[in-house]
Amino acid sequence: MTNSLPEMAEIWQQTLNWQPTDEQNTGFQQLYELILEGNRQLNLTRITEPQEFWEKHLWDSLRGIAPQQKFISTLETGASVIDIGTGAGFPGIPVARIAPNSTITLADSTRKKITFIDQILSELAVTNAKTLIARAEEIGQQTQHRKHYDIALIRAVGNASVCAEYTLPLLKEGGLAVIYRGTWTEEETTTLQNAVNQLGGEIESIEEFTTPLTNSIRHCLYLRKVAATPAKFPRAVGIPTQNPL
Ligand code: SAM
Repeated sequence: MTNSLPEMAEIWQQTLNWQPTDEQNTGFQQLYELILEGNRQLNLTRITEPQEFWEKHLWDSLRGIAPQQKFISTLETGASVIDIGTGAGFPGIPVARIAPNSTITLADSTRKKITFIDQILSELAVTNAKTLIARAEEIGQQTQHRKHYDIALIRAVGNASVCAEYTLPLLKEGGLAVIYRGTWTEEETTTLQNAVNQLGGEIESIEEFTTPLTNSIRHCLYLRKVAATPAKFPRAVGIPTQNPL
């Protein structure tokens, strides 16, 4: 018998001024069960306790797309979203569940993770998400992906300058990159500023908050694409991490 995820209606309300529908709650529970099952074969996540899964996977994924605690408005009307390095589907799958009018591309360089996500999407009957086995450095140079997305999400994939180089080329002008972080320092802002300037972006805001159950520190960095990214970015596979901007 699998544990049940807590519903946390009040906390959703207090933190995001929103509550999941019964259908969304059922979907979150199914997602949790499928991930626990997948974890027996694949090393997907070490976060398996129900409260921790709720906080670190569900709540954290959705808090990122709610700057100033309000969901990004284009998600409701219909945005083209990419989640780079989605792993077991975070933050992309929870985002797909709450934004049925938007299309979410879940990209990862590891084939076995994408194969697992394909199964999850089919079992959960999520129709507004698709998968892509790809490296961010490659799709950033492909015409069908470069300048194609309204929103790019990235969590736990690399340092912030690397994340900026992976995400900004994929955005249309006016698009938004969301970089999910734990701790953050002023020095990191200076380095990121330099990277973002070279990539056609600007730092729109940096939000610091704590998670609602364990009071863990989080930061979300919101980067706006304000100009074209020079053709040389993203650089070849491996270079952004070896030699971050
Ligand atoms: N975003 C998920 C989360 O927060 O739970 C997974 C994070 S996991 C630590 C990092 C993932 O990024 C891995 O699944 C890895 O395969 C993927 N990844 C790393 N570098 C990548 C790249 N250059 N392009 C695409 N995916 C990448």
